[in-house]
Amino acid sequence: MKLWSEDQLTEVLERADQDEAIFAEADLIRRQCVGDEVHLRGIIEFSNCCQQNCLYCGLRRDNKKLKRYRLTEEEIVAMATRASELGYRTVVLQSGEDVAYSDAMICRIVEKVKKLDLAITLSIGEKTFAQYKAYREAGADRYLLRIETTNKELYEALDPGMSFENRLECLSILRDLGYEAGTGGMVGLPGQTARSIARDLLFYQEFKAPMVGIGPFIPHPDTPLKDEVGGTFLQSLKVLALARILLPYANLPATTALETLSPNGRVIGLKHGANVVMPNVTEGAYRQWYALYPGKVCINDTPGQCRSCMGGKIASIGRSVAKDYGFCRVQSV
Ligand code: SAH
Ligand code: SF4
Repeated sequence: MKLWSEDQLTEVLERADQDEAIFAEADLIRRQCVGDEVHLRGIIEFSNCCQQNCLYCGLRRDNKKLKRYRLTEEEIVAMATRASELGYRTVVLQSGEDVAYSDAMICRIVEKVKKLDLAITLSIGEKTFAQYKAYREAGADRYLLRIETTNKELYEALDPGMSFENRLECLSILRDLGYEAGTGGMVGLPGQTARSIARDLLFYQEFKAPMVGIGPFIPHPDTPLKDEVGGTFLQSLKVLALARILLPYANLPATTALETLSPNGRVIGLKHGANVVMPNVTEGAYRQWYALYPGKVCINDTPGQCRSCMGGKIASIGRSVAKDYGFCRVQSV
């Protein structure tokens, strides 16, 4: 494992002269430690209703312009069935923090989706120990909860009513319950410095994160941060590459937000340390309403189109789609 100090990471994030060396090293470590296979996770965006009010996010409760939707249990299971038919081995069930889904409902959905021989990742926000335990016992394998930023003051300013300590506590509960507990954050938040991003990276390493999702912050026009600049493609790519260097065995997605900033962003991500892609398997008009940020790609495509498009892109760079569930083989050390 490579040891980088906070000062070293800050310096490479601030300067450009080592970028090529970092990118080459990240790609080499990716090939040596997690190989050429790319894990596909089909994401089902099952509700865009949210009780939280994160300043950066288009789903925040004060965004009255957004058309809200909730998928039924049957719709979610039908979309997971389609994902399984398309060859996915994992589905990610993601939503805003929507209290309309009872724990019994979530557990029933998890149980039904498990019967389809799929691994399940939940990404439904902050819950209690008892809730996380119930979902785990129902069969959920992984949980995605980004720390967003490890700067407590910034986190609490951007996520009004939420506490940084509770976010950390949720992550440690998830890990203790035996989930593959994924985290991550945004690059280019207002007020975020290179040093702060360096600390994010060291946090992922200390937490031994089996998955880390990193993407640019993209300002949404219907949020209080609409006039902010947002993260750049290059800086996000650099943070991804550094995450690969610090966490050689982690599952690192080439995020959809990267693709939003550059037409071939996910493939570029795969060549700069990433080994996971999360194509959308949500059907119909719901895709366009799950608007965390503007300019989301593939909103008019079907799950079948997304699956074959991604498969083609992966083959075009000499990589292959993995056929297993894609659990993290070695907890990063
Ligand atoms: N409600 C859950 C899951 C859905 S949000 C949660 O918050 O954990 C999923 C992720 O979208 C968030 O973790 C955040 O990092 C990202 N996101 C939200 N708004 C964004 C924006 N404007 N630009 C880029 N990413 C954003
Ligand atoms: Fe809700 Fe998640 Fe968006 Fe925050 S980031 S407003 S919790 S959907």
